[in-house]
Amino acid sequence: MSDFLRPALQALEPYIPGEQPQTKGYIKLNTNESPFPPSPKVLDALDREQVSQLNLYSDPTNMPLKRAIAEYYGLKREQVFVGNGSDEVLAFSFLAFADEEHPATMPEISYGFYPVFAKLFQVKPHFIPLNDDFTVPVEKFCGVGTTVVLANPNAPTAIGLSLEDVEKIVSSNREHVVLIDEAYVDFDGETALPLLKEYPNLLIVRTFSKSRNLAGARLGYALAGEALINDLERVRGSFHPYNINRLSMLAGIEAMKDSDYFARCRRQIVLQRTETAEELEKLGFQLTRSSANFLFVKPPLLSGGEYYQRLKEKGVLVRYFDSPKLREYVRVSIGSKEQMRQFLLKTREILLEVRS
Ligand SMILES: *Cc1c(COP(=O)(O)O)cnc(C)c1O
Repeated sequence: MSDFLRPALQALEPYIPGEQPQTKGYIKLNTNESPFPPSPKVLDALDREQVSQLNLYSDPTNMPLKRAIAEYYGLKREQVFVGNGSDEVLAFSFLAFADEEHPATMPEISYGFYPVFAKLFQVKPHFIPLNDDFTVPVEKFCGVGTTVVLANPNAPTAIGLSLEDVEKIVSSNREHVVLIDEAYVDFDGETALPLLKEYPNLLIVRTFSKSRNLAGARLGYALAGEALINDLERVRGSFHPYNINRLSMLAGIEAMKDSDYFARCRRQIVLQRTETAEELEKLGFQLTRSSANFLFVKPPLLSGGEYYQRLKEKGVLVRYFDSPKLREYVRVSIGSKEQMRQFLLKTREILLEVRS
């Protein structure tokens, strides 16, 4: 650290992303990416002609992509915001809707980036512990008198909240923004979209990284009433008006339009999730009920950390969180049929080794 860094930033603890080995070899089940390539329509759209226009800035209104998203959900373009990954949308939201005097309430166990943003933007986080079974204590999020940030389904627990419960939280906090991060909602979660009409304090955040097969394109979006979207645009325009590059803009449009491919990939993931969960249960694992493209699992016989390490030695990467309440668990992204077969094979080997 240099002597020049602002004192307020010296205490930052940056988010630690999952391992991203840049050479092939590992079966990568650690960062909840899609195992499938982007839609073939995305590949067709990104041709030489498009690349040859990279000398020109992208459209600072992001309108073509906003239009595609708005059409898909039957919303107005003015109800859509797009960001460079949903991480950027989340960052802008923390910046826009919380500060030293306006804390943000969030579950103690959730997406690890929320507390990092809180620190960066000097927002005081109010952490509410989850129930012992990792479900969200809905009543404790009602009428909290602060901005609320919730992932639904939650990460890394994979558990979803019902629309009814989300409405309780949104309706009891009308004086504050309730941000629902729906990164995983396409894998069986219940979306808060039907609430948008009635609740101008609701901000839904989505990503192209998981269910739209575009983690590398860095695209996320928010859906909300026009007023909240205008607030986010005010922040974006003061930070980075060209936040979506030309190629990702095209990729996002095509991915949004190809609903057949989207549905097929999603079905595959849900199918693999069901099959993998059944196999793990037979092997003595404990699992939460997943509404996401990953499983949150507690292995028999060994700790989460040991299981993670042994899988890694056998070429399978999963995510391990070294914190007191998560230590017995790992998070396993749902990959292709073949990837899950390999994962189960290695898991059986490990259990045999531990038993002998
Ligand atoms: C993956 C994830 C994100 C980040 O997605 P990007 O769009 O890739 O930045 C946001 N929220 C949750 C809960 C996630 O799991």
